[in-house]
Amino acid sequence: MTIHTLDLKFLGLARAIAVFVVEGPKGVALVETGPHSTHERVSELVSELGWSPSDFRHIFLSHIHFDHAGAAWVWGRQGARVYVHPVGRAHLMAPEKLYQSARRIYGDQMEHLWGTVEPIPESQLYAPEHGEIIEAVGLRFRAWYTPGHATHHLAWEVSEPGGNAVVFTGDVAGVCINGHYVVPPCPPPDINIEDWLSSIQLLHALPASTLYLTHFGLVEDKVRHLHDLEKRLLAWANWMKPYAQRKAQVEEVMPEFLAFVREDMTAAGIDAATAACYEAANPAFMSVAGLLRYWNKKLFA
Ligand SMILES: [Zn+2]
Repeated sequence: MTIHTLDLKFLGLARAIAVFVVEGPKGVALVETGPHSTHERVSELVSELGWSPSDFRHIFLSHIHFDHAGAAWVWGRQGARVYVHPVGRAHLMAPEKLYQSARRIYGDQMEHLWGTVEPIPESQLYAPEHGEIIEAVGLRFRAWYTPGHATHHLAWEVSEPGGNAVVFTGDVAGVCINGHYVVPPCPPPDINIEDWLSSIQLLHALPASTLYLTHFGLVEDKVRHLHDLEKRLLAWANWMKPYAQRKAQVEEVMPEFLAFVREDMTAAGIDAATAACYEAANPAFMSVAGLLRYWNKKLFA
């Protein structure tokens, strides 16, 4: 198996969002599609690799957020089958609700950031069960339900018969750009710390030691990476808890959260350009909103 990491240069930034071309003995598959706004670039990169869009019969999605799956409908139109969590399948068949709830956050930036979205016919969508194996392109794609970042999140363990395995982790293994600093993307509405910690344990338990993050790319030291992610997830959640307890609003928490994150990044030696990539892949205001919502549900529901 050969894995090509395509850099979408989202908003002109290198190493913010990736999609992965997975070459097997019997063809080629795509893991993630990126947003519709970068679809043209993905098509170009794919043809530079010598493939044409119709060669892709199998599209594996981690979850349906637009930065991961916004262009899935285009691949569907070109005849591909799209694999997604059952909850995500319903949204891809009728994406209007998803689009409108994103519009409430992004307003008139919607088109610029994410492009457009169209429904995918039910016949082209397939929702695997937890642990189900899909045989495609001469490889085995195994779906693992990995909630925490999103309730409908999948990690894809991919292996060649009798060979090595890798895991495409979507967002459940966090965001790590240019090195060793890992952050948990925490957008609303689904953040669940307990579920996320269980998903991290599941990733630990898989035999594969290599991860591919959508934000961004190859991680070879799985144990250290997941340990850092867990530490930071708990640090962010615990930092947010007192704000939730006194029912603080997102706008009020934002500057303090930004200062908290910046201080930690500076201490870890992250430069300003890299910090901008982290922000594009994982905007701070989303994490504030998502973590406050998590605590509100837990403390007051
Ligand atoms: Zn993401």
